[in-house]
Amino acid sequence: MTTLIKVDPLNPNEGILRKAAQTIKEGGVVAFPTETVYGLGADCFNISAVLKIFQIKNRPADNPLIIHIYDKKQLEELVEGDIEQNSYVMDVFWPGPVTFIFRKKANVPREVTGGLETVAIRMPSHPVAQVFLRLSGTPVAAPSANLSGKPSPTRAEHVIADLYGSVDVIIDGGETPLGLESTIVDLSRDYPVLLRPGPATIEEIKKIVPNLYIPDFLLKKENEPVKPLAPGMAYRHYAPDKPLILVINEKKLDEVLSKHPDSPIICPEEMSDRFYGRKTIIMGKLREPFTIAQNLFHVLREVDSLNAESVIVIGLEPQGILFSVMNRLKKAASEVID
Ligand code: AMP
Ligand code: MG
Repeated sequence: MTTLIKVDPLNPNEGILRKAAQTIKEGGVVAFPTETVYGLGADCFNISAVLKIFQIKNRPADNPLIIHIYDKKQLEELVEGDIEQNSYVMDVFWPGPVTFIFRKKANVPREVTGGLETVAIRMPSHPVAQVFLRLSGTPVAAPSANLSGKPSPTRAEHVIADLYGSVDVIIDGGETPLGLESTIVDLSRDYPVLLRPGPATIEEIKKIVPNLYIPDFLLKKENEPVKPLAPGMAYRHYAPDKPLILVINEKKLDEVLSKHPDSPIICPEEMSDRFYGRKTIIMGKLREPFTIAQNLFHVLREVDSLNAESVIVIGLEPQGILFSVMNRLKKAASEVID
């Protein structure tokens, strides 16, 4: 049975969140909002609780989870080696939408890290996540609260659609403000490596981490590493059941449009006039690109409910946050026209 609780996202009631925290302490699983997407959390030291996450999501066992903390002190029981060395970088980006990879302490269960010797950790800034994590009193392992392969949930209704009935508690804290999963930076290697672009842009990270290495696969059409740096990257993501055609090369757009005369088009508000006579789905505004990130997964979830044989999505200049948006669109697309 699933208990649904609703809280004020900015000023959550502690009494209400105490019930959700108690569920974590008792080995249950709780879906909770963060500033990126909704997470599906369990006590990271309780192996049977962690295994429930994999079972509920139908997630492959080698796809590691991110551990969520509310206080840097919690790193002591999770991270091997000198924490102080990276303290400055953490202080700039935490709390916030950046996950860091460290070498793990032996007591972090291998079930959490997919068998890796490293561990992914993040301190969210969302008020609900912060209070919930503090009351839980233990680091909480949490991937996104969707069924494996579906777009990450940015609204409680997405979590309900995927997981109602199979999780213990869903905390409804409204729409998640950023809408894309965290940026992941690996600090466990000789030099820092970007593993996943996200709401914190490459430009922002590079200001603080100038020697950040951007792997080639993030710049390619397929967007997948030949040999994954993390196992989870090899899995297909977000794919709607319907064909989703991503058009990057504008010169080929007319050809695609005439080949698919009835397909709806996902595009920014500023471009919708160009497709007069066709159904368009607005993904946000180019002049406020964060709105595109915020809406992206909701729009991808809508694709399957459309009465159409395929859907066309217009590629965007991969700058700033739109680099991260394009990363997700390439993973979601069944065909990339470039
Ligand atoms: P999700 O929270 O659903 O976005 O999934 C977490 C993602 O974090 C995984 O799919 C991996 O790509 C990444 N991740 C977690 N732990 C590690 C790790 N130890 N090393 C590299 N990547 C990781
Ligand atoms: Mg996920």
